[in-house]
Amino acid sequence: FAALEGNQYSEALKLTDFALNEAKKLGRNRCYIYNKETYQRFLRKSEITQELREAVNNGFQGFTAFYQPVFAEDKKVPYGAEALMRFTSEKFGIVSPAEFIPILEETGLIIPAGRWMMREAMGKCGEIRKVLPKFRMSINISQVQTSKSDVIHDISAEMKRAGLPLKALIVELTESDLLEQNINEKHFLTELRRMGISLALDDFGTGYSNFHYLSELKPEIIKIDRSFTAKAVADEQEYYLLNQFCTMIRNLDMKICIEGVENAQEWLKIRKLCPEFTQGYFWGKPCGYEEFMRKFTNKNDEKAD
Ligand code: C2E
Ligand code: MG
Ligand code: MG
Repeated sequence: FAALEGNQYSEALKLTDFALNEAKKLGRNRCYIYNKETYQRFLRKSEITQELREAVNNGFQGFTAFYQPVFAEDKKVPYGAEALMRFTSEKFGIVSPAEFIPILEETGLIIPAGRWMMREAMGKCGEIRKVLPKFRMSINISQVQTSKSDVIHDISAEMKRAGLPLKALIVELTESDLLEQNINEKHFLTELRRMGISLALDDFGTGYSNFHYLSELKPEIIKIDRSFTAKAVADEQEYYLLNQFCTMIRNLDMKICIEGVENAQEWLKIRKLCPEFTQGYFWGKPCGYEEFMRKFTNKNDEKAD
């Protein structure tokens, strides 16, 4: 490295650091051949991680909460909404949750970011309930939060702060997280039930489906993932499968929310399954609070275009 100067030198250091890391990931005594794409991905991830860390330490600048309406059978006013986290990076612009949520989880930053999300979403839920008194807010909770923080305490504190009754909240946990549950998570589920907060099982149909825990856990709602919905509207056998699942879920006394209905043709097929709830672009895309109020409540009727 002695021959390298300035930028070149620090670049070489970065590359060596990266290569060493990659080699370590492969196991002991391994050699790693540098690959440009992997390095670009690594750089992007490091930069996003750094930005997320700064955002968390900086009043959560760059984070926003979006809300997607969930409709019950009558379709007139939203039954509730799902709160979805958004992050805008200074360098890369809008980053998809599919990319930044795993980073928040790996770094543990999901714990403070999740708390921020709860405060944001529950506060807004209180506002929306002034217009729609039965409105319920769904919040996604990650396994890292249940296993590494006192999420029950955070939930109750934030509900109190927002003055929300217990029935105003639905906690969404993914199937994969539930199946990997550890002792803390069991404690979390018991406490959730004891408090009387509803549980929704997210991502149903993405490959884990184990039916035994369904009757054991009795979530109030089972959310059918968009990938399953998309297959079911395109393929007869998948549709048959989904139909059977719906019957089974109903026989177990749970409700169904079908996610990802994108257009009228899809709805024509899905409505035959009589889901208790639907959530999808056809009914409304996730949007910011003001837009949500304008589009889905009558509060700002005079301003609506
Ligand atoms: P999810 O909880 O299953 O959320 C539903 C996802 O489906 C959202 O994606 C939503 O925008 C998308 N979606 C809804 N309707 C349609 C549709 O008709 N078509 C298509 N193509 N997509 C639709 P989003 O917002 O990108 O979030 C992705 C995932 O990131 C969420 O999946 C959830 O697992 C996770 N996530 C988002 N916000 C949070 C959060 O605050 N905390 C945690 N732990 N996870 C979150
Ligand atoms: Mg969800
Ligand atoms: Mg889902």
